[in-house]
Amino acid sequence: MTSAGATFRRVFGYEAEGLWAAPGRVNLIGEHTDYNDGLVLPFAIAQRAEAAIAPREDGHIRVCSEQNPGQITEVKVTGLRPGLPSGWAAYVAGVPWALECESGFDVAIDSSVPVGSGLSSSAAVLCSVAIGINEMFELGLSRRELARRTQKTENDYVGAPTGGMDQITSLLATIGHAILYDVRADTTEQVPFDPAGAGLTVLVIDSMIRHEHSGGEYRARRSECEESARRLGVPALRGVSVGDLPLAVKQLRDDLLIKRTRHVVTENQRVENLAGALSRGRWGRVGELLTEAHASYRDDFEASCVEVDVAVETVLAAGALGARLTGGGFGGAAIALVRAEDVSGIEDAVAAAYSSRGFRAAHMFAVAPSAGAERVV
Ligand code: ADP
Ligand code: MG
Repeated sequence: MTSAGATFRRVFGYEAEGLWAAPGRVNLIGEHTDYNDGLVLPFAIAQRAEAAIAPREDGHIRVCSEQNPGQITEVKVTGLRPGLPSGWAAYVAGVPWALECESGFDVAIDSSVPVGSGLSSSAAVLCSVAIGINEMFELGLSRRELARRTQKTENDYVGAPTGGMDQITSLLATIGHAILYDVRADTTEQVPFDPAGAGLTVLVIDSMIRHEHSGGEYRARRSECEESARRLGVPALRGVSVGDLPLAVKQLRDDLLIKRTRHVVTENQRVENLAGALSRGRWGRVGELLTEAHASYRDDFEASCVEVDVAVETVLAAGALGARLTGGGFGGAAIALVRAEDVSGIEDAVAAAYSSRGFRAAHMFAVAPSAGAERVV
């Protein structure tokens, strides 16, 4: 259990005025489709960040985090600009900047979302602060607007070129649902997603290999997709359907761009198919689509890593309905759809596979479709 209220009291020496929480998320399917104007299907998880906040009269902002003990960052609200402060505190200080909030405050963060495993610890922090100051200072911004503004924080203040999926999920999720987010149409749809009701569990297998989102690989994939779209004469790869692929292959004439395009185009189709399978309760099909998505992510998009591939192969051999790498890739976590009674056997199989290869132990835990950001106290 996190308690940002206790951190606040210990660090600042008085009681916070309010406590807000915002969840991390798992992307069920739809990887690297967001910046191609495509479809994603994430759900919020119970792991979440809390922000304990109290207003200040002097226009200063002080920021601390239970996960970065001993560091207090202080900055004047009028002095906020990208790069100031740098480091993790930018995820907090960049929120009042993007919300055009002119009031000072103290804020303590405490989060149970593991950092860098593809579960969006960053959006959890951003969104807990955003709903907190939106309510505390009566800024009157809608959840959808808060999602846009916190994406701006991540893109323009922190400098990470991410899409809007993480913030949308953290702010708009409802319990027992995944969110079908259509980036081109800018619409969201709640899709019933209740694995527990079908005797199933979504297991996260964190390989503990860490990605660097703003790093070169991510940027390279993005520009390969943009180059493909340019050559195909569409604004983004969303403009290409599975039926268009044979012609696109001829037009692209480049093996690498063909692979990247094929991943994005088939992935959009898999997102639609998986949403459809969920609405018909066809869990076997859901599992197959997850595994197909992994093969595409690994072979065509070339964004997996050996540790995650071993996790996926191991859980499938041990009876999972399906499994795939989730998140931005180059490390991070796999998700597996497993029968509840198989969870411990599957965890044992992964632990044994990792240990026999000399990998660092994987971190495994179950996730369930949970509520979006909310006030706690
Ligand atoms: P993720 O996939 O987990 O979102 P990111 O690289 O996007 O990975 O974001 C991780 C960054 O978010 C961390 O390096 C840190 O700067 C910030 N962050 C996340 N959780 C916390 C926390 N509890 N306290 C302080 N900073 C955090
Ligand atoms: Mg992130």
